[in-house]
Amino acid sequence: MRYDVVIIGGAIVGSSIAYYLREEGFSGTIALVERDPQFAHAATTLSCASIRQQFSIPENIRLSQFTLKLFRRLTEEFGADADIGFREGGYLILAGENGLPILKANHEAQIAEGADIVLEDADALVRRFPWLSAEGITAGAYGRSGEGWFDAHAMLMLFRKALREKNIDFVTADVTGIERQGDRVTSVNLDNGERLEAGIVVNAAGPNAGKVSAMAGLVLPVEPRKRNVFIFEAREKYADMPLLVDPSGIYVRPEGSVYITGGAEPQEGDGPADPGDFEPDWPLFEEVIWPVLATRIPAFEAIKPTRAWAGHYDYNTLDQNAVIGPHPQVRNFFFANGFSGHGLQQAPAVGKALAELIVHGGYRTVDCAAFGYTRVAEGRAFRELNVI
Ligand SMILES: Cc1cc2nc3c(=O)[nH]c(=O)nc-3n(C[C@H](O)[C@H](O)[C@H](O)COP(=O)(O)OP(=O)(O)OC[C@H]3O[C@@H](n4cnc5c(N)ncnc54)[C@H](O)[C@@H]3O)c2cc1C
Repeated sequence: MRYDVVIIGGAIVGSSIAYYLREEGFSGTIALVERDPQFAHAATTLSCASIRQQFSIPENIRLSQFTLKLFRRLTEEFGADADIGFREGGYLILAGENGLPILKANHEAQIAEGADIVLEDADALVRRFPWLSAEGITAGAYGRSGEGWFDAHAMLMLFRKALREKNIDFVTADVTGIERQGDRVTSVNLDNGERLEAGIVVNAAGPNAGKVSAMAGLVLPVEPRKRNVFIFEAREKYADMPLLVDPSGIYVRPEGSVYITGGAEPQEGDGPADPGDFEPDWPLFEEVIWPVLATRIPAFEAIKPTRAWAGHYDYNTLDQNAVIGPHPQVRNFFFANGFSGHGLQQAPAVGKALAELIVHGGYRTVDCAAFGYTRVAEGRAFRELNVI
């Protein structure tokens, strides 16, 4: 089989790239190769499915703003019944005295991009959210609009369903090798023994992207990092509660009638996860999260954890930011990787951007040049400070 484009990974990033290739008028053949068509272990379906404007660099804010616009006209794009349950509940990122300069600098970057974020001192925050304890808090940045959460599975299914009408070949297989002749990748080998010749290969393999790049002899500093999410019940229901990020890094937000929380993984010792390990680390909830929640929201002294899951971040060890675009030498191998915990909200923008690059030879809507691979080759970090 020969395809003009072979996309490795059919979750949100791969599906979005395929979708926008067709939207941009690409008429060549496309194969979307996925080894886990139920997406049981994909970061996409195991994510917390939240979208924010509160990044430290303008490029990331712009990617999220593209997706926000899409969310606001979802039915125009995908049809009258399109619904991903988007709830614009906002983020509230808290800082103590030490974190204040960074919070302020980030806020300035966000305002400059037109984001609807207010910076408030502790007293104002407690007036706005009377359930909040301001102990150790100097200020917080709150997204009054443009931030919130949604249903990740529903979003993925919207794209996948739309692809059914776009003449895409869905291939269920594990990519086990990539062949290269000099500065070109030429084909992709599958575990069923088949070989797909490829004009272009796109790496959309999420946490497995480092390994997929290595198959083509290319270094990509992306590895799986385990992240735990816990669900709990509480007697008090705070309808106005945003996604709150404590200065400790622990976050909590409502999810229907319950709450979800996480962010307790210690930086020290954080390293590559066993790709098969999706077992939640319950002690993190008992020992780290609960005490923080009870301090920050005193009513959460009495809560009942009910369920947990673990997923893998597609973690870029260089700078916790996406790597987007072609390899500078192997120019028919494209990266869409390393989102480090914010890839779901960036996927539509990245799909659009890569499609523009492939079809028109340049970015038109969202400029992703700053995310290019050259910085990886040079070991030059392009760092995002707000990694949640
Ligand atoms: C706990 C958690 C919380 C998160 N919260 C958020 C959030 O709130 N907001 C946000 O924006 N992002 C969040 N993220 C990050 C986000 O989920 C990811 O960045 C995003 O889903 C990446 O999408 P992807 O399609 O690249 O990767 P994935 O969803 O992992 O998909 C990659 C696909 O490639 C397939 N694949 C891999 N290797 C091969 C191969 N060799 N052959 C064939 N197929 C292959 C896999 O089976 C998989 O389906 C979170 C992630 C986690 C784990």
